[in-house]
Amino acid sequence: MKLTFDCQQVSRLLSDGQDRHLPTADRARMRLHLVMCQSCRNVDEQMQFLRRAMRGLHLHEAALHESRPHDRDPA
Ligand SMILES: [Zn+2]
Repeated sequence: MKLTFDCQQVSRLLSDGQDRHLPTADRARMRLHLVMCQSCRNVDEQMQFLRRAMRGLHLHEAALHESRPHDRDPA
């Protein structure tokens, strides 16, 4: 078994948002790849930014319906 994923696997997992559902060992393999690979780190950052933006929109939408200003994800 390979120690880390390759770029193709990592970027696919990142773009599908599947990294959160991976078993711990696979997630560790992915993190290890990210430590070593600048281009996948860039992908990871973009995906995290997008996810935060999406979550922000979602929270904003929820806030329009029910006013809960403190209900924010600290991440
Ligand atoms: Zn890579």
